[in-house]
Amino acid sequence: MKQGKVWLIGAGPGDPELLTLKAVKALGQAQVVLVDDLVAPQILAYCPQARMVKVGKRGGCRSTSQEFIQRLMLRYARQGLCVARLKGGDPCVFGRAGEEVRWLAEHGIACEIVNGVTAGLAAASLCGIPLTLRGVARGVTLITAHAEDGSTPDWSALATSGTTLVVYMGVTRLEEIRACLLAGGMPGATPVAMIENATLPQQRQCFGTLAGMIGDAAGFGLRSPAVLVIGDVVAHAVRGESAERDTSPIERCA
Ligand code: SAH
Repeated sequence: MKQGKVWLIGAGPGDPELLTLKAVKALGQAQVVLVDDLVAPQILAYCPQARMVKVGKRGGCRSTSQEFIQRLMLRYARQGLCVARLKGGDPCVFGRAGEEVRWLAEHGIACEIVNGVTAGLAAASLCGIPLTLRGVARGVTLITAHAEDGSTPDWSALATSGTTLVVYMGVTRLEEIRACLLAGGMPGATPVAMIENATLPQQRQCFGTLAGMIGDAAGFGLRSPAVLVIGDVVAHAVRGESAERDTSPIERCA
């Protein structure tokens, strides 16, 4: 029997308009869609023909293990079906695409990655923060504060890296992040932006400093999903008119 295939599709950070055309095309061809948490429900309108399987690890479905999801992809692909694995942001940024691509390759299943806009990039842009800026930051580090093996990043090295830090999954580890960056030599006055629900109507952001970020986050009531942008570029954020969002419907260019 003909083997199916798997697309690992990035759904972007929330705003459905940040979906790529390639993602829309693949969703339109999919027969089964495995949907992660943090995928905006409106995106599912692009695959009304497909069977929907929720495989989120949060609310309601905590037991969906990575192994189970992988076996599910394999089972459907072996039935000859086209499977879309829809993930928040980009599948290759804290999205386990590496493990899934390897697993599928080992089992002889064709797999294609369709990029999405990762949350950290979109969050910064919507706050008018340039993540790199000549003379200010020569690079960007996307980093997670959370590792399954309990290990922690080398915050001291990051503190002096000269790159803007974009921290994912950091909301419950603010104290550790702050303490380690300060201990590593990052000045307490370093600007920090905390951006919650980036690109969604309920997006909120809070600007402050590394030294003050615990109090700021508590006062603001920071909740997941959120990213932290830490670095001097945050002080160069251009907000106001240019940061107004266009929420008008998409118009086709002839
Ligand atoms: N693959 C995803 C990241 C998944 S890890 C991506 O590329 O964006 C989940 C973490 O991503 C959350 O804990 C949070 O730190 C971040 N995140 C995802 N969506 C977000 C959003 N809309 N706003 C802010 N942070 C978000």
